[in-house]
Amino acid sequence: MDERRAAMVEDPAVDLTVDGSGVGGVLATAFGAEMTSSRGRCAHCHTVSIVGTMRAYVRGPGVVLRCPACAEVVLRIVETPRGVLVDARGLAWMVVDRR
Ligand SMILES: [Zn+2]
Repeated sequence: MDERRAAMVEDPAVDLTVDGSGVGGVLATAFGAEMTSSRGRCAHCHTVSIVGTMRAYVRGPGVVLRCPACAEVVLRIVETPRGVLVDARGLAWMVVDRR
């Protein structure tokens, strides 16, 4: 383990968050499309952000994405044996891009 990696491991917050691009696989499972370059509008502060720039919290039972502007929760995704639960109440809208 190099010095930088060791410093990150000692910061208890670092391993809790990645940027939105780090959860592309979970998003693709939930939406059936590559989502990290998609845009979404925060229902709290109305900022339009690219999903890949949102803060992703990955330590819980699912994934939580927070708005990069106001830090409110915009999207929660939980994979269960029966399906994928998507709680999008923090989003005003999100675009699933055509390919
Ligand atoms: Zn916001």
